[in-house]
This record gives sequence, structure tokens and C-alpha cells, in this order.
Amino acid sequence: MNPPGDERPAQELLAGLLRDAGFEVSLLGRTDERPNLVARLRGRADGPVLCLLSHIDTVLATPEDWRHDPWSGDEIDGEVWGRGAIDMKSQTAAEVTAAISLAREGWRPARGDLLVVVVVDEERGGGEGAIWLTEHHADAVRCDFLLNEGGGSVVEYAGQRLYGVCVAEKGVFRFKLTTDGVAGHASNPNSGDNALLKVAPLLQAMRDRRPAFDVTEAPTALLAALGVQLDGDPAAALAQVRAQDPWLASFVEPMLGVTLAPTRAFASEKINVIPARAELEVDCRTPPGMRREAVQARIEEVLGDAPYRLTFFEEVIGNSSPVDTPLYAALERWVQRNDPGARVVPSMLPAFTDSRTFRAAFPDCVAYGFFPHRHMTLQETWPLLHAADERIDARDVGYATACYRDVCKELLSG
Ligand SMILES: [Zn+2]
Repeated sequence: MNPPGDERPAQELLAGLLRDAGFEVSLLGRTDERPNLVARLRGRADGPVLCLLSHIDTVLATPEDWRHDPWSGDEIDGEVWGRGAIDMKSQTAAEVTAAISLAREGWRPARGDLLVVVVVDEERGGGEGAIWLTEHHADAVRCDFLLNEGGGSVVEYAGQRLYGVCVAEKGVFRFKLTTDGVAGHASNPNSGDNALLKVAPLLQAMRDRRPAFDVTEAPTALLAALGVQLDGDPAAALAQVRAQDPWLASFVEPMLGVTLAPTRAFASEKINVIPARAELEVDCRTPPGMRREAVQARIEEVLGDAPYRLTFFEEVIGNSSPVDTPLYAALERWVQRNDPGARVVPSMLPAFTDSRTFRAAFPDCVAYGFFPHRHMTLQETWPLLHAADERIDARDVGYATACYRDVCKELLSG
């Protein structure tokens, strides 16, 4: 768990398995306790590099809140329980198992290389993990195709089974709204000028209005796959999805533009002092590619004329990969073969993963989140992320392993 991380024992276990199977393995870390694992299986000729990426760290867990020990990894009634069961030791296991089993059979890429990269420190920003690795060992992890976390659960919609391929991640533009007034004694509200009361219209505005839509490639393709035509009217398209499946509509809606969630407020330090200043912090998520000026324009539209000062204190631009690629096509064919009648659809994560770091480091890299779950739906897996009772249907670990094996063979064959 991270903090503290201490990923070395797990990384050494994986390194040994990969080395024995024929991979060139290095452990590369900013510190000794927290090495990243990079394993390469060279092909017979030059070609694309396919990277199976995962992170080995997890968030914390409070055992009292769980029905079973979060650090056991026990299999109970066909489910593997524990912190990391979904996010994302299951995918590490599937990716490493797929890679090892191929190598043990004597398989080698006909062209290109297969890379297995297991990073540390994803849950705390990647400063020792993906960011450090792509900065200090870019040549070791440079890749053309990347499979990572963030997608692959099934959504059932209008009688169809749809597997999400995460092709895009929203940006994060957290900001602070400050209002100013004049301090006074709270025994007489007429004294001073209460800055906290000036926050009220800002909150009201965020409750009553929402930013205009900014629809990008991924949700456009998703809506098309759901059989919903945008026709320049995202609200109508959303209403159509809602009529069929309210849960899915609430999941899709944030993909269609900027979202604003006020989460923290601060004012007077003392109960008897009218505040001269109040602050409201807002967690704002933005579509891929949207920059600060455009984000600010959307915020100003919502807040209207009430006086405030706006300061961004965290800025990550959203990122994406195109949908029309050989990797997407390979995932599409795999799902069609292995779950007849089911389809893949592009999806967008409202948060970001290490895919962002790889896309930034290697601009031509096509990165997707995909861990196919056949036996658990998105409605079942989503609430378990970073929550109590995280677990996975054991069959899905094998299912995903088969997927990674087949995709490696398909993309790296002659
Ligand atoms: Zn994760």
C-alpha cells in the first residue's frame, strides 16, 4: 500500500518470473525500496513496441470496514478479495502471466518487442513511478502501443453487452474562488462586510447552471455505438440515453464537457469575527485537450456577474488517443470472438492514470485502458475502486490473461 509503497518484494517476485521465462529485466528506481520493473522480449525483426503497463502500488485500506482481510488476497466463493483486486494487481497478474506463458512456449514477436512495465507510486502521482521512469529511462519504456488500466468493464445497454475501451482521460483544473469583504464584530452583522455571504451566489450558480457542452471524439463515438445520434444536441442525446438507462446517462454526462464540483470552503477563523475573506475550492474536470483559457471561459459563464477572484491551483490538461488504430481493431476483434454479440465502445475516464504520462512522453503512443471483465459489470466494479470489499471474479483474471496473450500475438506477428 502507498504510502509507504515498499514495492520491492513484489517487483522482485515478478522480475524472477519474467527473467526465467526469457525476458531481459531491469529494476529501475529513484530509491532502492521502490523500483519500477521493465521487462523486454525482443522480436526477430524491427516493428512496433507493445507495452503491457500496470502499477503495483495500491491505496490504503481500513480492515474494520471490510468483510474480509484486505491484505489476504483470499479466494472466497470464486472471488479474489483484497485491496488491489481491481485497481490493479489483477491486471498486473494477467499481463505478467500472459507474457510469461507466451515466452515459455517459445513464442517471440515476429517483429517489434513486447514490453512489460510494472510501475510504483501511481496512486500518489507517479513521481517515483511513471513520471520518473519516462523522464530518466525514456528509451527503456518507449512504446507504440500501450495497454493500461481504466477500461474493459461491461455495460449492458438496450440488451447489448458493451466493453469500454478507455481512450481518453479528463483534465483536472482545480481552482479557488475568493471573495473579499471587511472584518467586523459578529455581535452586530451590520458591522463590516461579510465575505462569506458573497460565496452564496457562487454556490447557487453552480447548483443552478452547468457549463455548456464540449463534446470530443470519445463520447461522440460512444454515443454513436449506443445508437444515439448527436445531431449537435448533446442534451437531447443524453435524454435519449437516460430514458433507456439512467445510471449509464449519469456516467456519460461528465464526458460531455467541463464539470464543477465545489468541495471545500473556508472563512473566518473565529466564530465572533465577520470574515474579510472567504474561499471556496472547486474540483473542476475538463475534456481532453482543453486549455486554461477555454476552461476559465466555461467557469465564468456559469458564475455570472457576482464578484470573485479566481485562482487555479492544479492544472492537468486532459489527454486522449485516437479511436481508429490497429490496437483498437485488435481489441474489437478479440471481444467479438470471445463474447459473441458483444462490442467494444470508446470511453473516457473522469480521472487520469499513467496513460497520461506515456502519452505526454511519447506523443505517437496509442494508449488504452482495457482489462476485460466478462463476469462483473461496470456497475459492479466502479463502486469497489478505492473502497471497502474490493474484489474480482477470479474467472475474469483468466479472461483478461487470454485477451493479452491474443492481442500480443496479433499485433506483434509478421
Ligand atoms: Zn489504478
